[in-house]
Amino acid sequence: MSLYPSFARPNSLAQASELLAGLSGGSVIIAGGQEIMPHINHGAMQPDIYIDIGGLKELRGISEADGVVSIGALTVHRELQGNAIVAEKLPMLADAASRAGGGRQVHNRATLGGNLVAMHPLYDIAPALLALGAEVELVKAGETRRTSLAALMHETSHGLGSEAILVRVLVPAMAAGTGWAYEKLKLSGGAYGSANAAATVQLDAGRITAATLTIGAVADRIIDAAAAVQGLIGQAWTAAAAEQLELRCPALVKQPLSDQQGSGEWRQAMAGVVARRAMAAAVARAGQK
Ligand SMILES: Cc1cc2nc3c(=O)[nH]c(=O)nc-3n(C[C@H](O)[C@H](O)[C@H](O)COP(=O)(O)OP(=O)(O)OC[C@H]3O[C@@H](n4cnc5c(N)ncnc54)[C@H](O)[C@@H]3O)c2cc1C
Repeated sequence: MSLYPSFARPNSLAQASELLAGLSGGSVIIAGGQEIMPHINHGAMQPDIYIDIGGLKELRGISEADGVVSIGALTVHRELQGNAIVAEKLPMLADAASRAGGGRQVHNRATLGGNLVAMHPLYDIAPALLALGAEVELVKAGETRRTSLAALMHETSHGLGSEAILVRVLVPAMAAGTGWAYEKLKLSGGAYGSANAAATVQLDAGRITAATLTIGAVADRIIDAAAAVQGLIGQAWTAAAAEQLELRCPALVKQPLSDQQGSGEWRQAMAGVVARRAMAAAVARAGQK
């Protein structure tokens, strides 16, 4: 480890990928720096070389084609909240991004890519993207790979290592009439969630025809609660259905987190509470076929 780390600012994705592949370790990708700078400032991370990816235009931009919204990894939280395509096609993502703490300064710097790669269980954006069936595009040693965000988070809970670059996130546009809600239970304004839930729902003649549900901030990984919503398909959203959902979700939290945001036992119970609230709000928002 050198006393003063080096700094590289590649101009293209190909150059960045080549550079990362050629380094033997000690390098760290930096985007907005909101995640890693505190670790570096406190001496918990001491990289030899920073690879600043801020100059890679391939990682910028938001567009829609064939019903899929492509969002560059360098998109900052503020853009997710203000972009017209995201607002129209992925309103739940815009809402989840707006719930992140840190205020304007953080929202102007913090990137979508950095938020996802950090794979922090308390963060807000991944639960929404998982409920929306997002995929990610990665480049490693010049090779491009596309996979589901769910598979990527299953593969690793410790980020991408120092060689892979997250290029963009690809999200199916929400179908017209889809109800959605992002619920964040937090102890104080601006805090990380103690339990988060993202839900989408489609209704036909008052009955649920499709639903997705993810629960975050209660375990070390975000929970896909598909098993809990499966029982709602074909049913109307009644008080009994809501109670059923609230009772089913805590059992999905096998090893609850226990920290200053709440004890494990309480977190487990809150998984059911946020799930019920999110589903109720999604149903209320859903257009009827
Ligand atoms: C005060 C504060 C409050 C916050 N509150 C919340 C909150 O309530 N909810 C929430 O969700 N988040 C919250 N955050 C976290 C914030 O959203 C993340 O820190 C931020 O999104 C990380 O993005 P970045 O660009 O700054 O990442 P960086 O710090 O630059 O990088 C983070 C990690 O990702 C890697 N990386 C970054 N981009 C890429 C890429 N494209 N490809 C491969 N690896 C990459 C880096 O090497 C590093 O390991 C908060 C942050 C702060 C500072």
